[in-house]
Amino acid sequence: MKYDKLIFELSKPGKIGHKLPELDVEDVCIKELIPAELLNDGEIDLPEVSEPEVVRHFVNLSNKNFGVDTGFYPLGSCTMKYNPKINEAMCALPGFATLHPNVPECGAQGALQLMYELGEALNETSGMDACTLQPAAGAHGEITGIMLFKAYHENNKDFQRDKIIIPDSAHGTNPATATMAGYKIIEIKSCESGLVDIEALKAAVGDDTAGLMLTNPNTLGLFEKDIQEITKIVHEAGGLVYYDGANANAILGHVRPGDMGFDAIHYNLHKTFSTPHGGGGPGAGYVGCKDFLKDFLPVPIVVKNGERYSLSYDVPKTLGKMKDFYGHFGVLVRTYAYVLSMGSDGLKKVSDYAVLNSNYLANQLRDYYNLPENVKFKHEFVLGGLKNPNGLVTLDVAKRLMDMGYHPPTVYFPLIVHEALMVEPTESESKETLDGFAESMIKIAKEAETNPEIVHAAPHDTEIKRPDETLAAKELILKYTK
Ligand SMILES: *Cc1c(COP(=O)(O)O)cnc(C)c1O
Repeated sequence: MKYDKLIFELSKPGKIGHKLPELDVEDVCIKELIPAELLNDGEIDLPEVSEPEVVRHFVNLSNKNFGVDTGFYPLGSCTMKYNPKINEAMCALPGFATLHPNVPECGAQGALQLMYELGEALNETSGMDACTLQPAAGAHGEITGIMLFKAYHENNKDFQRDKIIIPDSAHGTNPATATMAGYKIIEIKSCESGLVDIEALKAAVGDDTAGLMLTNPNTLGLFEKDIQEITKIVHEAGGLVYYDGANANAILGHVRPGDMGFDAIHYNLHKTFSTPHGGGGPGAGYVGCKDFLKDFLPVPIVVKNGERYSLSYDVPKTLGKMKDFYGHFGVLVRTYAYVLSMGSDGLKKVSDYAVLNSNYLANQLRDYYNLPENVKFKHEFVLGGLKNPNGLVTLDVAKRLMDMGYHPPTVYFPLIVHEALMVEPTESESKETLDGFAESMIKIAKEAETNPEIVHAAPHDTEIKRPDETLAAKELILKYTK
């Protein structure tokens, strides 16, 4: 990856990339209409470059992007799966893409029907009774769900329920969500096998329990075999159970959170349901809930009367709005296209192949990387570093993978696995791609023994090699300064 000049560095005074036509209407000085303090000093400091320079600059920038369309992206717990192009084509249909959010209901029947039917379809996969499509992301879905729990307890005058229980293998957004909703967190340790420790859960619940947040399969890729007992323990204590279904790639069409005993769930439509993901969004977080929570859902909800669809604000104890208008509609169109083009059999196959690919890959790596024995993984697995590290750590492996053309997997998460390297191949990768990745991982393990320096000095081909990540996160500089 060679360093290209910034567009400001290409600039030469007097170069022009675009010429506006001569003014053929009266020149109205808008300066007089704008308050003086809002006007700039006349210097806007735009780069001065030719048209080909502008085009090359932006095309080159776009080529520096790494995404699922350019290479294998085995990021654990994030389902960076391929986004079928039919989703994009459907989303770009002018009837959807140019629809104004303020158009009267009679002019938006198709869009409303799409949202209604998508909600029904997602409820069917999750085993829930009602839903909202408003949240803009997974974490936003979580807070919507936990606010539903809170509204429910407060409606029951159950004000002493001020704690949410979260296993130590949870995604970081879970404790953040519960804290933002005003709850105290009780963290319960996983048992040796990586699953929820039932005894620890029993000891943690009480009449101060508002709920439990759980990911199943958890972030180790393991299915909670005692899930019905887990949800029962929390329910018997008067708490509710929230399913973090950000990544439901392992269970689609096989088991439903509603049947496991969960009361509410979110899906990340930008993970499991194949809409684009990354760079900060936009995503979408479907939130489904059981009947007894539906009176608290955000407004508006889409309702069907006869053949007509409308937006209803008639939700008796609504939380109010979680997002302006109706959420990220374009993401909903893509999800709808995905669900319809896959069908229920197709969605089930997604999970079949996601789980098969994950186990296939895990087994190729187990001679070279630490991995528990005799475990069947779901959609992802977590390696515990190199078997013979020879002074190298997981970060070195991740950096070396970049030299081989791969986006590194998630590293050092979940926190409960030492030297964690978390891999999720997804259903959309071919056997050849998986074999190629395994070969590279094995090559790195062999290099660790014979030539550890080359791994430790990686990446070799990038302009920036090993930034100080703490500094980069705390003092993020995204602006050009001369
Ligand atoms: C990705 C993820 C989230 C957060 O989703 P965002 O859309 O990034 O807010 C929450 N939980 C789990 C398990 C996830 O994988």
